[in-house]
Amino acid sequence: MADGVLGGALEFALETLSPTRCAGCERPGALICDRCLSRFQLIDPRLSCTRCGAPFGSLLCTECQGEHGACERVLAAASFEDPVPRIVRAYKDGGERRLAPLIADLLLDTAEHAERVAPERYGGILSAADAITFVPVTAEAFRRRGFDHMEDVARAFSGRSGTPLVDALIKHGRADQRALGRAGRMAAGRDGYEVAAEVGGKHLLLLDDVITTGATMNAAASALLAAGAARVDALALARVWGS
Ligand SMILES: [Zn+2]
Ligand SMILES: [Zn+2]
Repeated sequence: MADGVLGGALEFALETLSPTRCAGCERPGALICDRCLSRFQLIDPRLSCTRCGAPFGSLLCTECQGEHGACERVLAAASFEDPVPRIVRAYKDGGERRLAPLIADLLLDTAEHAERVAPERYGGILSAADAITFVPVTAEAFRRRGFDHMEDVARAFSGRSGTPLVDALIKHGRADQRALGRAGRMAAGRDGYEVAAEVGGKHLLLLDDVITTGATMNAAASALLAAGAARVDALALARVWGS
């Protein structure tokens, strides 16, 4: 098929009309430029809080006081500081869906790096996971944005890591009375999450974009555990920290 040639020509035409700009700084060129990538405040998995993903929480995390949530371990790639908020906005609200595979790559690098340098803390977080799942948006947000941003990331992440994706969670918004099918009633989770897939006995890796308090992630993880998941680890692009 001439898909590659055609795709290339189309890409060239679009590129000429509106050149790709960096989601972090608007400079023309790459979707995330090297300068912005180098400005990521990466979290060291040897020093982070394994309960909430905060940087430097290895001894005593002042944020979660060592309280154990539903997630077994939490790992975040970077602090939610410039340029990460702009990139997340460009992806979620700006609809720049080409960012999905890049974010998936960042998450994959984060998990593999953590397993390598901190095996006693994050060992098996990806390599021992039976499946990948993600924190879904509400149906209301889905209608507004036209896509579920973490679903796209999770699909790319699953493809790259070779770990199967389970589209397990349904989030109910305030105004959302979306009818659930039979599968959706398999297990009712707390805080508006329902589990609509078989997760019994599985070690899951739950993906999300930004961890603020960890409440969302833990609510989603609680629902998965209530539906029979054996363990839920969490992996996010960023952790809100300080300020
Ligand atoms: Zn940039
Ligand atoms: Zn913590």
